[in-house]
Amino acid sequence: MMDIIRMKDWGLALNPSKTLLIAGPCSAENEQQVMDSCLGAARTGANLLRAGIWKPRTRPNSFEGRGAVALPWIKAASAATQLPCTVEVANARHVEAALKAEIDVLWIGARTTVNPFAVQELADALQGVDIPVLIKNPINPDVELWIGAVERFWQAGIKKIAAIHRGFSVTKSAPYRNLPMWEIPIELQRRLKTLEVICDPSHICGRRDLLLSVAQKSLDLNFDGLMIETHINPDEALSDAQQQLTPSALQLLMDALIKRQSVGEHPDFLANLEALRVDIDSLDRDLIELLAKRMEVAQEIGRYKRENGVTILQMNRWSNIFDSRVKATIDAGLSEDFAQAFIQCIHKESIRQQTSVMNDKKMA
Ligand code: PEP
Ligand code: MN
Repeated sequence: MMDIIRMKDWGLALNPSKTLLIAGPCSAENEQQVMDSCLGAARTGANLLRAGIWKPRTRPNSFEGRGAVALPWIKAASAATQLPCTVEVANARHVEAALKAEIDVLWIGARTTVNPFAVQELADALQGVDIPVLIKNPINPDVELWIGAVERFWQAGIKKIAAIHRGFSVTKSAPYRNLPMWEIPIELQRRLKTLEVICDPSHICGRRDLLLSVAQKSLDLNFDGLMIETHINPDEALSDAQQQLTPSALQLLMDALIKRQSVGEHPDFLANLEALRVDIDSLDRDLIELLAKRMEVAQEIGRYKRENGVTILQMNRWSNIFDSRVKATIDAGLSEDFAQAFIQCIHKESIRQQTSVMNDKKMA
């Protein structure tokens, strides 16, 4: 198992309190804008300053960042606030410039994590360097690619690693810019137990009014920090204008967040929680047993269809099942999204079971 070094042990005087805040502008535009945005971020209690120097843009001729000339601007803001700073790096040349400028932490953007060649190039450029690396999720919802990126840096000797969840680019993402798909960062944490995960509500939401609810949700899921874009004058920003907050709006958001403990202080808390978990464990066992029984019946149906030379999928029947089960699930108080995914998932397994019966050579 990778024994990843946790943020409090990065030697950066990051505030060891539970919720780390990374704040600063989407892009470094000019020296004054970086300084003012970062001073504002520092006043709201930021622990680490961010600014994009090289910006990956979807279309050419958009603002692509000022490049290496902006590195001293963020270093100046860092000196003025006594806070460490981070920039995005996407190739070996960026790494070299950022290390030369003594940037404290590097971050890997979503469009880079998606590409193993690019990640390996960065990992190779960092071989033998002791610097923390924050790894954003890949743009597509593939937890293996995210884990692969962590492994590439780990194998290059980088031990100070955290992940950033910034949502996934999928066709049906409304109202978000990038769908959160919380199950993916949760799976990442289940697989890499020592890896801390920071939530980036700015790039998930793409708009200011959703930021608080997404930030709150990440805290309730016990994420280890937040990365929120802060700009001294968001409406005039050269990138991501709609999602950036003024420092005072960031302050309001931070004040509105409810911080719950990951383990309650009440003496009976763990005992009470344990009792409820025993109930959940037993219900899950019942569910699994019931599903297995349902699949046995599906196999029986598969054998019967086989004997009678009938196809597996009977569209009328499936259509009726889908409508009635979705309705029943919604009537039972569960969401429509869940209802649809649930019955589709059961149906898919049922078809798989029936197909294996149909193609069973022993029965031929
Ligand atoms: C950013 O943080 O400004 C950025 C480019 O993010 P992402 O890689 O998540 O799109
Ligand atoms: Mn941005």
